[in-house]
Amino acid sequence: MIDSFKHKGLRSRLVDSLVEKGIADEKLLAAMRKVPRHLFIENALDDAAYEDRPLPIAENQTISQPYTVAYQTSLLQIKKGHKVLEIGTGSGYQCAILCEMQAKVFTIETHRNLYIQAQRVLAELDYAPTMRCGDGSIGWEEHAAFDRILVTAACPSIPDPLKKQLAIGGKLVLPVGTADMQEMCLVTRKSGQEWEIKRLDKFRFVPLTGKNGFKF
Ligand code: SAM
Repeated sequence: MIDSFKHKGLRSRLVDSLVEKGIADEKLLAAMRKVPRHLFIENALDDAAYEDRPLPIAENQTISQPYTVAYQTSLLQIKKGHKVLEIGTGSGYQCAILCEMQAKVFTIETHRNLYIQAQRVLAELDYAPTMRCGDGSIGWEEHAAFDRILVTAACPSIPDPLKKQLAIGGKLVLPVGTADMQEMCLVTRKSGQEWEIKRLDKFRFVPLTGKNGFKF
């Protein structure tokens, strides 16, 4: 698990470029300066780890583009101690950023391989999220309510269980649309029966599967 001078330099340059693109959350930027993204991808891709682009991981999935990670995390306005549910652990990188921001993180991944690999690297880096392998499209009822929920895969619609598992005042960030293009949605739970939905920029994520995901 080497984090060389070169890796640190490239990482710092990447984070500077995110600031230029408008990312301003200081705690998030500090976390992105610290978490070694290259350790969440295969060695062969090491040279590309600090380019601002998504990269392939196992099971035909991706580690999100750093800008996308920063964009979604900024919308969540993470505070120390927030209880956060992430759906789509993937490589574990986004989870590490949330842990580094001192959130209490719960994360679900559907692919067993990815779940095991992410568990290993997160433990080696001394992060201790609560992890599960299963269908995150139904949320994680036993641990609700969550202050924040983040979905890192494309959703055909806003899954009802996720809205209901938000604490009052809580925020849910997720890409919603077709399998080819989605709008980032910021859902805020205003009361027991009231949710405000804001539709923001366009993105392209790999699809959410499971009960409330895409059926191919
Ligand atoms: N957050 C990840 C990271 O930092 O590497 C990137 C996630 S990748 C863009 C989306 C992930 O969502 C994939 O790993 C995919 O297997 C997972 N996924 C898709 N549908 C899911 C579901 N129903 N439950 C849990 N995970 C799901």
